[in-house]
Amino acid sequence: MPQDPNCIFCKIVAGQIPSKKAYEDAELLGFHDIHPWAPAHVLIIPKEHIATHYDVGPEHEALLGRMLGLAPRLMRELGVVNGFRTLINTGPDGRQEVPHLHMHVMGGPRPWARG
Ligand code: AMP
Ligand code: ZN
Repeated sequence: MPQDPNCIFCKIVAGQIPSKKAYEDAELLGFHDIHPWAPAHVLIIPKEHIATHYDVGPEHEALLGRMLGLAPRLMRELGVVNGFRTLINTGPDGRQEVPHLHMHVMGGPRPWARG
């Protein structure tokens, strides 16, 4: 599975940087954002290093579908009952800070810190 040794999220996948895991399988990892905007704020990432949403191809469609499908399950497990947001920042103009594809999933009672 392609990994980037300098990538912070690849290091989380490898267990070299600790994270608070919410979900894990062979392809995906879900973990709590270190600076949450909302009472529940998890990041869903592919374990494979894909830098941005711009870099996906047809071979990633099933993976992307699984990321979206996982979001409501994690929110439900975290007690979110009144809706949530999903967000993928892509590239510099999309204000992506960590160059490893990730989907933010945010929910819980408002007000939130951002968004
Ligand atoms: P983005 O701007 O979409 O690239 O968001 C990157 C997110 O990763 C931010 O919300 C950060 O708080 C989060 N983040 C960065 N480093 C870590 C980490 N070590 N553990 C958990 N979340 C992180
Ligand atoms: Zn990576």
